[in-house]
Parts: sequence; C-alpha cells; structure tokens
Amino acid sequence: MTIIADSLQAIQTNIARAQCAAKRVDPIKLLAVSKSQSAEKIRQAYLSGQHFFGENYVQEAIDKQSDLKDLDIEWHFIGPIQSNKTQLIAQHFSWVHSVDRLKIATRLNDSRPQELGLLNVCLQINSSDEASKSGANLDEVLNLAHAIKSMQNLKLRGLMAIPAPVKELADQRAQFKIVHDAFKQMIANGFALDTLSIGMSDDYIAAIYEGATIVRIGSALFGARPNNKDLN
Ligand SMILES: *Cc1c(COP(=O)(O)O)cnc(C)c1O
Repeated sequence: MTIIADSLQAIQTNIARAQCAAKRVDPIKLLAVSKSQSAEKIRQAYLSGQHFFGENYVQEAIDKQSDLKDLDIEWHFIGPIQSNKTQLIAQHFSWVHSVDRLKIATRLNDSRPQELGLLNVCLQINSSDEASKSGANLDEVLNLAHAIKSMQNLKLRGLMAIPAPVKELADQRAQFKIVHDAFKQMIANGFALDTLSIGMSDDYIAAIYEGATIVRIGSALFGARPNNKDLN
C-alpha cells in the first residue's frame, strides 16, 4: 500500500513541478498503466486516489475489470488493436488511445453499445517515421480524423504517440515536439482536440514541456512489470 501510495505522490509532485516550469495551467491527467500488474495493485492505487487506468491486453484487462467491479475506474485501452478485439474493446473501455487505421475506427464505432455513450479515441501517430513503429503518419491521421467526424459513437479527442526511447531530455523533447506540432496543425485544420497522450515513466517530464495532457505511467508507479506476458 505504502509503496504505491508514495510513488503516486512522488509522480504527482513531479508532474506539478514540470507543469509549473513549463508555465502551463491546463490540467494534466495521470494514466496509471497497469498491464501485467495484479488487480490487487490496481486496487491499492485506486485507494490512494488514482482513478484512471490503462491496459494493453484485452482479456487480461477484462478479467481485472471483473475483479474490480466495485470501484469507479475509468479504463483506457492503450495497446495495439487487432480487428477481432474491437468489439470487446468498445464494450469494456471509455477511451482508446491506439486507433491507427480506418478499419479499426469503423469497427469500434459499429460495436460501441449506445448505453455507454461516446467512446473517446486518440489517433496514434508515428512521430519518428520508423517503419517498425506503430502508428499512422500525419496524412493518414488527418484522413482518419475526417472519417471519424461521421462516426456517431466515437468522439475524437486527440493524438497519442510512443517515440523511440532516448535518454537526454533535449532529444526526448525534440521527438515530442513533432507530435505537438502535428496536434497544433490538426487544431488549426478545425479539429476540436483536447488530448495529447504522450510521455511514459522515462520521459514524461519532457512530454509535459511539449504539451502532454495525459501521461501514461506504468513502471514508475507500480515497479518493474512481472514477466511481460503477450496475451494480445
Ligand atoms: C507499457 C506502456 C506504457 C507505460 O510504460 P512505462 O515505461 O512502464 O511507464 C505507456 N504507454 C503504452 C502504450 C504502453 O504500452
């Protein structure tokens, strides 16, 4: 209990300091990334005041959600999306950060239960243009954003990115700046976006300098992940 509560408080303090140093006043949301962590650890974080959690593996997330039904958690899906998982994602999450192609957006829209309200989505953009990285390029993201305008069950909130890991703050900022510039360009093109989902345990300070409104933090909060399972 204490360890998670202490880490949570330390991260919140770091976020507040970086926000102040970056002369920002808009809210920054901490998303606790709980992939491979137990339901018990999620419960501890929740009891320490953390209510937003991000998961990468659909079945693992659904199992934990059923263990934690008594808590008022806002669940975010942040992992790569296979098209045969879209229905479960649309039924079990409030947010999806990793939409990167039309087929996935269409399927999420088609299977979102009306009674759950709009599904909040971010488009995953590939900032570094490496073929190996997931995410769409800026042109594809703009096309996707236009297409989502006519999807009644999705609400486009913004962009998400996972730049290649680099050590120095200046290099981290340079990568996030590319994403931030794309975000600003989309707003200039008339999209009403309010969410920039960038920054993880090792680079969230840089992300806050470059406009992050959601930072996604796993290991700095929960400790190293137990054996990364590939349940997708
Ligand atoms: C695992 C993961 C994170 C958290 O990574 P940490 O380095 O443990 O903070 C954030 N975002 C995504 C998309 C992830 O898959």
